[in-house]
Amino acid sequence: MSSNQSLSNRDLSVLWHPCTQMKDHETFPVIPIKKGQGIWLEDFDGNRYLDAISSWWVNLFGHANPAINAALKDQLDTLEHVIFAGFTHESAVKLAEQLVEITPQGLNRCFYADNGSSAVEVALKMSFHYWRNLGQTQKTKFITLENSYHGETLGALAVGNVPLYKETYAPLLMDVITVPGPDCYHREPGESWANYSSRRFTLMEQTLQQHSDTVCAVIIEPLVQCAGNMRMYDPIYLKLLRAACDKYHVHLIADEIAVGFGRTGTLFACEQATISPDFMCLSKGLTGGYLPLSAVLTTDQVYQAFYADYQSLNAFLHSHSYTGNALACRAALATIDIFRQHNIIEKNRSLAAMMAKAALRFHDHPNVAEVRQTGMILAIEMVKNKHTREPYPWQERRGLRVYQYALSKGVLLRPLGNVIYFMPPYIATEDELLLIAEVAWQGIQQAVKD
Ligand SMILES: *Cc1c(COP(=O)(O)O)cnc(C)c1O
Repeated sequence: MSSNQSLSNRDLSVLWHPCTQMKDHETFPVIPIKKGQGIWLEDFDGNRYLDAISSWWVNLFGHANPAINAALKDQLDTLEHVIFAGFTHESAVKLAEQLVEITPQGLNRCFYADNGSSAVEVALKMSFHYWRNLGQTQKTKFITLENSYHGETLGALAVGNVPLYKETYAPLLMDVITVPGPDCYHREPGESWANYSSRRFTLMEQTLQQHSDTVCAVIIEPLVQCAGNMRMYDPIYLKLLRAACDKYHVHLIADEIAVGFGRTGTLFACEQATISPDFMCLSKGLTGGYLPLSAVLTTDQVYQAFYADYQSLNAFLHSHSYTGNALACRAALATIDIFRQHNIIEKNRSLAAMMAKAALRFHDHPNVAEVRQTGMILAIEMVKNKHTREPYPWQERRGLRVYQYALSKGVLLRPLGNVIYFMPPYIATEDELLLIAEVAWQGIQQAVKD
């Protein structure tokens, strides 16, 4: 038995993996990774895999990054963790200072949690509680977009809209108002992204007009609905939304958990619409893919609505045991340093152009309906019929064939349904991007057979 097999067998006798039908592992193995170096992962049999999806969108500067490793080792010898109520520490303070500095103007307060879903819960609760502290107790609802994703805990799941994850739990979830989205896959032939996205905004405007009295906030993934098959839209939608939220006295929650930290080409996606949300949720790339941490940035105005004598009972009494974990904060500081020292946003422009070039040939593929890109995210929509855009039946799991083929060729691609996407760490080289594209091409060739 190979080393892979032995560890994989032990795994399957005690573990339960995320977002997985465990029975699938009767026919293909779980892959035990021994080590990571840069963009490469290596298993116990010595096979290597190019991490083309940044280990679920978290890794920015490679595995075992020397700068982040060094920072963590130093932090480990100083302070690993301390209770964050009544206490603080240098890495948490520095990180909050830097997040306030690098996020859009007006976001001056930082609240930590320990994963993306918790950050979404924090933002939802804070928004609701803000209005309540102002005496506006009729505001209890949230507006969300079709095809959105905000995490798996019950509150986050409720404001999400991907049926595969949501439908089973529907009886447990709070009621939300769901508005058709600006997803440009659905635009008319020849129509611009900007035109479609602004046209679709009228539906949001109508909803706000009708329901603003009872609505706390609109929650949105700026520019790319990542878990919703990497669907994309124009920044104009965010601009219009910011103005409408102001007009109707509703908060705007920007969930930049996936798109933040350079994924869309700017450090934060909101920058492309030159807007500041009332809440910004960050996680995933925040620690460079090292440790679980999330942050909710908000305004002085929100903060002040909670600031009062204890007896007023206006405080935000929300906590997680690992809030502000020192190791995680330090990894985040090292990550932000890399952005600064190596001019990453600038460099990513040429990397994004290389990705576009590597994917040029897919535009004409008979089973590709669309190749779309926003910054460092590139997605290929595999369909049964290019002209009618008829999708393959989901039961055929053709994306899974791409996944398995790519693994056999040493590339980790993990399609969302039939959408193959590239979301590599920012250290990818041109040759590595070409390898990803070549393997994806061959994978699609395999997947569309019969
Ligand atoms: C991944 C994700 C979340 C949830 O984050 P977790 O850390 O997985 O809980 C929320 N929102 C968006 C947009 C995400 O991509």
